[in-house]
Amino acid sequence: MTTKVQRVLVSGGGISGLAVAAGLARCGIAVDIIEARSDLAIAGIGISVPNNALRMLKNLGVLDDCLAAGYVFDEYVRCDAAGERIVALPCPESSDGVPGYLGLTRARFADILRAAATTAGAKLGLGVTIEDFTEDAGAARVSLSDGRQAEYDLVVGCEGLRSSLRTRLFGAAADPVFTGYACWRAKPLIERRVSAMTKFAGATTDAGLVPITDDEMYLFHVTAEPGNPYHEPSSWRDLLGQRLEEYTGVIADVRDNLPAASEIVYSPLFEVHLPRPWHTDRAVVIGDAAHAVVPHLSQGGAQSLEDAVVLAEELTRRPLAEALPAFMKRRFDRARHVQQLSSTALIREMAGQHAGDLSREMASTREYLDLPV
Ligand SMILES: Cc1cc2nc3c(=O)[nH]c(=O)nc-3n(C[C@H](O)[C@H](O)[C@H](O)COP(=O)(O)OP(=O)(O)OC[C@H]3O[C@@H](n4cnc5c(N)ncnc54)[C@H](O)[C@@H]3O)c2cc1C
Repeated sequence: MTTKVQRVLVSGGGISGLAVAAGLARCGIAVDIIEARSDLAIAGIGISVPNNALRMLKNLGVLDDCLAAGYVFDEYVRCDAAGERIVALPCPESSDGVPGYLGLTRARFADILRAAATTAGAKLGLGVTIEDFTEDAGAARVSLSDGRQAEYDLVVGCEGLRSSLRTRLFGAAADPVFTGYACWRAKPLIERRVSAMTKFAGATTDAGLVPITDDEMYLFHVTAEPGNPYHEPSSWRDLLGQRLEEYTGVIADVRDNLPAASEIVYSPLFEVHLPRPWHTDRAVVIGDAAHAVVPHLSQGGAQSLEDAVVLAEELTRRPLAEALPAFMKRRFDRARHVQQLSSTALIREMAGQHAGDLSREMASTREYLDLPV
């Protein structure tokens, strides 16, 4: 295609889908978003949004809304299992004045991204999926589950871990790989006790707290779950309590004030390693669908936002045939490197090596993430 895209279908209304839709619609491109679920209620309670992600939110024009809705902090604190402070590492604002870190409820984040996309003109269809997809030199042609047949210049797959568009385009080779670990998340029934992301070091696990509003914080706790066992959801509160048994101090208070099992989120952790290129002539896969990552550096959403902003930039700068390779050039190595850094952080934490040379490691990670995308 020698002209720039004019009509784009975004499949998936999560972080990457809403962000790329906002980025494209702001530039006058006609965007339809389809989302399989009948609402955009987001599981996961809170999200930690690091500086590189906040810079992308600034690019999309929603930074101030996000900062107003969440809790800004500028350090990362490590404590022992009893809550005694070991070290505090700075997460300073960047030279453009964007803060180091933000904690935010997932629900508010989704609201802000959705408003950004729809206010810019993107049309959102809920409960809709792609049933058939073909492409040729003229267009990407889709049959949708609501009976519509439509043509687009490009389809952007933002369908998360289990993307059916990824499988349709690239087969099962890039199916998610279970890491051996899972993450428990909960909003305890006590008021916020931390004013920065704070990790508490147990023998072979960490428990973390992140402030998300003036009053609220969420707990995250990654545990080894070999073989990805099924845990009955009604048992999640008891199981999480057991897994936190070694902690005293503030984490013990959190453990004693866990919400009902139905309010706890249990997420087996997967990675996706889609080889390059993540695109065909008229379809591209981004976000978790291309490179899902463990949450240890808060980079899953961040890398999804970087994909979204870079893709929107390239598509508005160049014809499609040049834009997709240009997007890959800017994104593949970085997303892969961040995946590796995150995985290393997980393995060190689980081996009890987290206290090591943390400040040097964090500084070099931040230095990398500070690089222009
Ligand atoms: C335990 C845990 C903690 C995390 N913490 C953080 C953190 O603190 N900071 C951070 O940056 N990241 C974090 N992440 C990662 C982050 O949540 C993801 O990287 C991010 O949500 C990926 O966004 P996405 O839009 O690519 O995919 P998703 O958020 O999974 O969205 C995909 C959307 O597509 C829809 N969909 C699926 N299939 C179809 C289909 N066939 N048709 C149409 N729609 C479809 C889904 O319903 C969903 O709405 C964490 C992840 C986990 C598991």
